[in-house]
Amino acid sequence: MTVLQRSDWYDVARDTNWTPTFVSEDELFPPQMSDPFNMPKEAWAEYDEPYKVSYAEYVKVQRDKDAGVYAVNTAAARTRFMEEAGQRWHSILKLHFGAVSLAESISQIAEGRMARFGKAPGMRNMATFGLLDEIRHGQSQLYFAHESLKHSPQFNWARKLLGTNEWGAIMTRATLDDVFLGRDAVTTAIMLTFAFETGFTNMQFIGLAADAAEAGDTSFSNLISSIQTDESRHAQIGAPLLKLMVKNGYKAEAQKAVDIGFWRTYRFFALLTGTVIDYFMPLEKRTSSFKEFMQEWIVEQFERTLLDLGLDLPWYWDYFLEDIDSFHHGMHLGWWLYRDTVWFNVPAGVSAPEREWLEAKYPGWGQSWGKIWDQIADNILAGKTDLTVPKTLPVVCSFNNLPIIHTPTKPWDPKGQMLTYKGKKYYFQSHVEKWVFEQDPDRYAAHQTLIDQFLAGLIQPPDYEGALNFMSLSPIERGKDADNYAWAFQDQGPGQIAAE
Ligand code: MN
Ligand code: MN
Repeated sequence: MTVLQRSDWYDVARDTNWTPTFVSEDELFPPQMSDPFNMPKEAWAEYDEPYKVSYAEYVKVQRDKDAGVYAVNTAAARTRFMEEAGQRWHSILKLHFGAVSLAESISQIAEGRMARFGKAPGMRNMATFGLLDEIRHGQSQLYFAHESLKHSPQFNWARKLLGTNEWGAIMTRATLDDVFLGRDAVTTAIMLTFAFETGFTNMQFIGLAADAAEAGDTSFSNLISSIQTDESRHAQIGAPLLKLMVKNGYKAEAQKAVDIGFWRTYRFFALLTGTVIDYFMPLEKRTSSFKEFMQEWIVEQFERTLLDLGLDLPWYWDYFLEDIDSFHHGMHLGWWLYRDTVWFNVPAGVSAPEREWLEAKYPGWGQSWGKIWDQIADNILAGKTDLTVPKTLPVVCSFNNLPIIHTPTKPWDPKGQMLTYKGKKYYFQSHVEKWVFEQDPDRYAAHQTLIDQFLAGLIQPPDYEGALNFMSLSPIERGKDADNYAWAFQDQGPGQIAAE
């Protein structure tokens, strides 16, 4: 018997739309879950997914991918890579697994929403495979993190983080709830698959994989590259949708969803990837700076994709291009200063050669951020490490719970960064966060930042130690300086490492 080629039967077999007779179209696809823009059926009929795969093909490829990932891991376990990798590399893994494992797992809900409520059969097909992908991503990363538990209890935060009130967890939930979980199928496809996955996951999963390979962690490098091959497939759900929205007169709606999704996603990755690539990564293993990765993946590739689809650059693009020079430097300073509020040990990443690298990649870094690190190093050298830990909570963005920062050498005018809504004052990281808030204030108004919860009396006792307990950080889980302050002593001759 001759077997048909997939291309001979796919279009017919996947066309599972019919006219419902037992219920109305709107009952089958409630607009608030499916398509709040109410695009006509003829528009939806044009949806054409660029990546076509049958279930049998999918299963075979995925089985091979998984076999490869676990085989490499087994082989790597026989080397002593993890034992010899050092704290900085362990910190990168702990941060990645904490922020990513369960985030991938819960994106099953987003894929499931598109698989059920997408109005085009091709969209539902791709999202079904996307859902299966995200099961694999959650499971494999939790497995890898669990295997590393023997090295440190902090690896348990791969599973623990998103269920806590740790501030990074509050930030992550606020972002994912908005971009992945709290949207209809159309907006999810734009914000999650187009903005988050097409725009940014490349950087975490290809940029970081390149650095991991360079650092000798073949197992982790292979794991996240394998994940990215799935992401680059299911990320293609959004683009054909954007194309048909533009063509059928819904450009403004599409553009707004891109602008919101992109900005929220950018903040998440600046914190997660920006700090890791520019500070955590051992200097000799770095392949590019965060800014260079952003220029390659976002400015060159994502920008072109947007214009090709008939969309515009987000209205804040000039501000965004300036922001990639500064925001993540402030966030890194935050990781380090508030190191006991995170689940990994934070490398300062500012030894003399690292400062030179930072100055070369970000001209002016020394004058702005370097000066703050000078003061910190002086305090360490004087034995006053207690002065390097702020014992009070920072002012955070009402919207994403990140400390509000600005470049120290630039004048700061926060006028455009606050508003009052229904009697409550809101403070924002920038005018872009404020704009997003204004697009749908009731969606965001009730968000409780860590500071809101503190002021509401939920943190007891109402002090720094109370806050650490509120964040579920036991003393052995709290982060420390990853190099035990050795970096501050580097010019003082060998062997002088400060006691903790
Ligand atoms: Mn994934
Ligand atoms: Mn995904």
